Amino acid sequence: MWGSPIGQIPRGKRQEKGDATMATADSHGMNERKGERFGAHRVLDPRGSLPQPARRIDNSFELSWDNEIEVDVATLNIDAASFRQIEESAGTSPEAICAAVKQIVDTRGKQHNPVTDSGGMLLGTVSRVGSAVRTEVAVGDRVATLASLSLTPLRIDAFADVRRESAQIDVRGKAVIPDGAPFAKIPADFAERLALAVLDVAGAPIQVARRAKPGMAVVILGAGGKSGALCAVEARRQVGASGKVFGLESYAKYASDLRSLGVCDEVIAGDAKDALDVYKKVLAANGGNEVDLAICCVNVEGAELPTILPVKDGGCAYFFSMTTSFGRAALGAEGVGKDVELIIGNGYARDHAAYALELVRREEKLRALFSARYA
Ligand code: NAP
Repeated sequence: MWGSPIGQIPRGKRQEKGDATMATADSHGMNERKGERFGAHRVLDPRGSLPQPARRIDNSFELSWDNEIEVDVATLNIDAASFRQIEESAGTSPEAICAAVKQIVDTRGKQHNPVTDSGGMLLGTVSRVGSAVRTEVAVGDRVATLASLSLTPLRIDAFADVRRESAQIDVRGKAVIPDGAPFAKIPADFAERLALAVLDVAGAPIQVARRAKPGMAVVILGAGGKSGALCAVEARRQVGASGKVFGLESYAKYASDLRSLGVCDEVIAGDAKDALDVYKKVLAANGGNEVDLAICCVNVEGAELPTILPVKDGGCAYFFSMTTSFGRAALGAEGVGKDVELIIGNGYARDHAAYALELVRREEKLRALFSARYA
């Protein structure tokens, strides 16, 4: 069931669609309009843009589009960088956080934080399946979106609980999963909130599996957080007993949680924004040597050079963090003469949802930690 994201249809197999025009009947027999293949029929500003880069998209549900799945939304999982920015600018009370999210969604038609440029994902129940969508999913299925909220048409009618530890907000509202966008059914053996938390960062551990090899030395910045802990556990599995895994974390509680997983050769207390200090500490932990792979999983800005600096020439710096600046990473690496491969953390990889959930299933300590924190 989890072999591939259930809702995803390879682009080549989808029906070709032209401009938005009147079309056929949907699963409720209602008149539908024919949606533009990449969701441009939802874009209000600027015209001609696609939903992700758009300033504003249409989040109304008066019309039915043939290439959309509609969802009754139960919970938003706000991207960690966005949630932190909202807390820092608006305040940490539930009312302040909800007001800030409402303002973004009312203005943009999507939860697309204009400061961090990031979104998150959501949990809900399928309420309509457009007639042109080829999917096994049906009305009533519980699903989590795997494409960013920064491109997802979203209307919020009411706010309920805010859970700061997991950056999750319970809401009542409606959203759209565009045809072709990945999503996943919630697996029966996971609590919904736990599944949502894992799926939010599902793109991270599979990238570690692709890059970490036996015997390598790997450092993870922000290693006690959600994606960081998944990456640390996966790195240990990949590098084996001959390799090294180092986790850098500034939050003492999360550093202690990470130690308890027993996957790191050393958990380093440090500030992922302090390039020279990170360089010194990582090399000290690794016997004076630079590492093969560094993974940035922090939710703050300014960790580009601290990620790049400890990596040896020919190694790889992988930026999962949404706070990453292309300029700071590319020009920073150039300035310190580092011939290092710089990878942008694509939130999607084939089978990433199944991979991340299976990792949590297999690793009992990780599952217990995440259940306590996020479920
Ligand atoms: P998270 O659970 O909040 O983890 C971030 C960790 O970094 C936390 O433990 C945090 O500690 C720590 N940290 C913060 N500042 C630090 C510093 N100066 N030095 C060392 N550690 C520091 O976040 P997450 O959900 O794993 O997300 C991590 C990043 O991935 C975010 O930037 C998020 O936007 C991004 N993300 C990317 C994608 C994608 O598709 N590429 C998808 C989802 C998320 P505190 O708890 O004290 O802050």
